[in-house]
Amino acid sequence: MQNPIIGHQQIVEQLQHTVASDRIAGAYLFVGPTGVGKETVARYFAQLIFCEQEAQPPIVCGECLACRKVNSGNHPDLQFIRPEGSLLKIGQIRELQKQIIYEPLEARRKVYILTDVERMNAEAENCLLKTLEEPPASSVLILLTSNIRALLPTTRSRCQILQFHPMPTQELTEILVERFSVAPEQATTLAITADGAIGKALTQLEKGDTLAEEVPEILKTTDQLAAFRLAEHFKDNPDTLGELVTWYRDLLFLQQGAPYDLITHIHSLRELQSIVPRYSRLRLQQAIQTVFDTKSLIENTNTNATLALEVMCLKLLK
Ligand SMILES: [Zn+2]
Repeated sequence: MQNPIIGHQQIVEQLQHTVASDRIAGAYLFVGPTGVGKETVARYFAQLIFCEQEAQPPIVCGECLACRKVNSGNHPDLQFIRPEGSLLKIGQIRELQKQIIYEPLEARRKVYILTDVERMNAEAENCLLKTLEEPPASSVLILLTSNIRALLPTTRSRCQILQFHPMPTQELTEILVERFSVAPEQATTLAITADGAIGKALTQLEKGDTLAEEVPEILKTTDQLAAFRLAEHFKDNPDTLGELVTWYRDLLFLQQGAPYDLITHIHSLRELQSIVPRYSRLRLQQAIQTVFDTKSLIENTNTNATLALEVMCLKLLK
């Protein structure tokens, strides 16, 4: 079976080496942004330890009983401890301490994966420290966090720390295209918005286009007659006027080849890119000024809002 881990090659090799030489530490701390792959690698590490196929270097065969049990979430020696509500609670840590003293049931070691450990209060963390100081030889604790600074220095120093890095946008884009059959343009957008974290990109992909916002009609239409209807819309939804500025600003950024992280409506990137060629730089600057002026006029004077908005829309559609 092909190594199922995407990226993190160095970490995977290090863990294989650890298992091969039977120098598994009692506690690990996986550090990296949300969705970067910490949990996937932690589960993979457990499988490396459990897998019954005794290969060198160790592999995750995916077919033996141990591997299949992990994949179906039924391995008795692997346990996930996740925050209940917003916190990892002291009760959960105490429960862990009660269980950890027993020998593993099927594997050589028991593996505990604690997610989001930055969400422990001081009481829970101090309680966990006792186990980190003297972990039973037959157990491995893997702590996952996106914020190492939230942890006590003593917690950090008791663990072997592995740092997970996001993937370069280009690499993640290629993976999304090649392994997940995502269309290239969508893959680029996903890779950018996920900040190189593959888990985030895949979650977004699953959610579909729910994050995509409707590009305001006024950016797309050239029909002058639409001005009155659009003016009505802005009158009924005064907030959208402020937002309209952000859309024009995005177009301006795109036109100037600014970095994508400046784009506000990144989920509509594709559509915005198709609109950009219709605008000159000057026209975009004027549009932004027009919207600002109109907004200020309506907010600060007793001008007729409907009229002001109609004039604005006519100008924007010119
Ligand atoms: Zn296996």
